[in-house]
Amino acid sequence: QAKGKGGNSLHFYSQQMFDDFQNRLALESDLKLALAQQQFTLHLQPKINLANRKLQGLEALLRWHSPARGMVSPDEFIAVLELAHLMIPVGYWVIEQSFRIMVQLQAAGFKDATLAINLSAAQLNDTKLPTFLDGLLQQHQLSAALFELELTESMLANNINETIKSMQRLKSRGFRLAIDDFGTGYSSLSYLRQMPVDTIKIDKSFVFGMLDNQADFDIITSTIAMVRKLGLEVVAEGVETQAQCKTLTQHQCDIGQGYLFSRPIPSDTLIEQLQANLHDNGQWR
Ligand code: C2E
Ligand code: MG
Ligand code: MG
Ligand code: MG
Repeated sequence: QAKGKGGNSLHFYSQQMFDDFQNRLALESDLKLALAQQQFTLHLQPKINLANRKLQGLEALLRWHSPARGMVSPDEFIAVLELAHLMIPVGYWVIEQSFRIMVQLQAAGFKDATLAINLSAAQLNDTKLPTFLDGLLQQHQLSAALFELELTESMLANNINETIKSMQRLKSRGFRLAIDDFGTGYSSLSYLRQMPVDTIKIDKSFVFGMLDNQADFDIITSTIAMVRKLGLEVVAEGVETQAQCKTLTQHQCDIGQGYLFSRPIPSDTLIEQLQANLHDNGQWR
């Protein structure tokens, strides 16, 4: 480990930076092919209503099956897509596929299940996005209220007025809006009040620690109370244990999402897996 200001550390950091740069270029060139060669897929993770245990909806999560690298998680490649200006075209693909999945859900009788789509900053600022969405709603004859667009707290920090305008353009069409990874960015409560959002998703890092760490517990319970008081829906992500689920339910968290209920499910087996996991009364197993 290079520490301090020793003579060799410059070399160490340069080599490291060079390697990082090379890795990124290689990743970028692989990603450029990925869209054309249809290496992306979507996985869908259920969101469960904690009060009645019913399926509330699903979140679409992008996966990249690279022939050379295997399955790559979005945490490793979303940032590179953004740097390479590929997030908008890949994002269009995600949205189109999400509409197809919604059509399948409707046909299978999951009439009220919503579908959440993650948007990055470039997509939110893309002036062609609203028209693109209008076209898909029209084509598939679907209500915008079936879709929820997730924006992370950190991307809302810069250029707040423009961001709110973009959000309003989507909201006016009837799309639901969510703030993802809440608590990890630095959005102020006064902005939150101005934003046309429906849902707050508490970041999974707080859920992971909530039963071992008093501060995380306090953050979780007070966020749930605040969000509900604002009249918004609150989701806890990263629910992995029954104990977390029980405590979140006791504190009136509306929705839970996490490995306890289900890992993200590949889109090609989605309907059968949902049917297998739901009891006749509509409750999740
Ligand atoms: P996110 O939107 O906050 O999604 C939640 C992440 O937590 C997902 O990681 C999910 O697989 C993971 N997760 C869910 N439940 C649990 C749990 O119980 N335990 C643990 N340890 N993890 C859980 P994933 O799929 O790797 O996605 C990472 C991030 O990449 C997403 O975070 C989102 O910000 C971004 N992302 C994914 N798909 C898209 C996309 O289509 N477009 C954009 N712009 N971003 C995307
Ligand atoms: Mg999300
Ligand atoms: Mg999140
Ligand atoms: Mg995240």
